[in-house]
Amino acid sequence: LLPLGAVAGLLLVAAVALATHRRLSLPGEIRLGLKRREFHLHYQPVVDLRTGRCIGAEALLRWRRPEGLPMSPDLFIPAAERSGMIRAITAHVIDNALRDLPALLALQPDFHLGINFSAQDLEADGSITQLLRGLRAMKAPAGSLVVEITERNVTDAKAAAKQIARLHDHGVQVAVDDFGTGHSSLSVLAGLELDILKIDKSFVDAIDAQAAASMVLPHIIDMAKALSLFMIAEGVETETQADYLRERGVQLAQGWLYGKPMPLEDLLDLLRTQGRA
Ligand code: C2E
Ligand code: CA
Ligand code: CA
Ligand code: CA
Repeated sequence: LLPLGAVAGLLLVAAVALATHRRLSLPGEIRLGLKRREFHLHYQPVVDLRTGRCIGAEALLRWRRPEGLPMSPDLFIPAAERSGMIRAITAHVIDNALRDLPALLALQPDFHLGINFSAQDLEADGSITQLLRGLRAMKAPAGSLVVEITERNVTDAKAAAKQIARLHDHGVQVAVDDFGTGHSSLSVLAGLELDILKIDKSFVDAIDAQAAASMVLPHIIDMAKALSLFMIAEGVETETQADYLRERGVQLAQGWLYGKPMPLEDLLDLLRTQGRA
């Protein structure tokens, strides 16, 4: 017979082993989630501010975890970036976006689909090679894919410029995301061949609140015009915001006013409905 202390010790070891087994680290959970196919894309409509028509969408990653609450990409994407899991995530995003693109183009030949790139995706060759190879295989028209990058992601401007040129050569558009929230200088952006500037939600929010940030917005719009960039306003929730942006020449918008991120089927329904109108 074992002494009581040893039994207790064994039980403790077993309990700790069980607990650590169940509670994986976040990168560990992400790895398992990828294997179990728990990640999928939702699509948020991008609309023409003058006509209200949906002309494209942004792919946003969702994590359907079997246990536990849904987790925002604002939490798991940074964790994936820190742990090196982001490459596998982006590969999955590219796969799914390319799989869904033909159905969208069939309903709307000039559809634009945006996907988000992290710094590692832009600086290494793998993601871009995968993207270009897939696009070539499906003979998608130029401009149907938009890669969204943030200022924060441009750590090496020279490397970024080279990769952006490569995307351009193959008809992929490049958008700078969350514009106005980064720390890099405008000269970094001016040196890149960009197509689209996405105005960050904080500036759009400020329109209604008449907050200080709303004084910056006209300057962002002027700068985009000077650089001949298309503009997409993000996080548009009210008609007041939409009116303001339209009057100042912002062409495109996305936000809850027009639609939340939704499954592919719902976006296809939306395109069918507007096709009949
Ligand atoms: P983001 O690229 O700036 O995406 C826009 C975020 O704003 C999305 O949050 C979207 O759901 C939300 N949003 C859009 N319109 C409105 C609105 O009218 N009101 C409000 N309150 N929110 C709105 P989401 O889907 O939670 O994504 C958060 C961030 O996670 C994204 O910000 C992006 O940086 C990152 N992310 C999402 N999917 C991916 C991905 O596939 N790859 C990478 N690298 N990052 C991703
Ligand atoms: Ca984005
Ligand atoms: Ca954004
Ligand atoms: Ca954001």
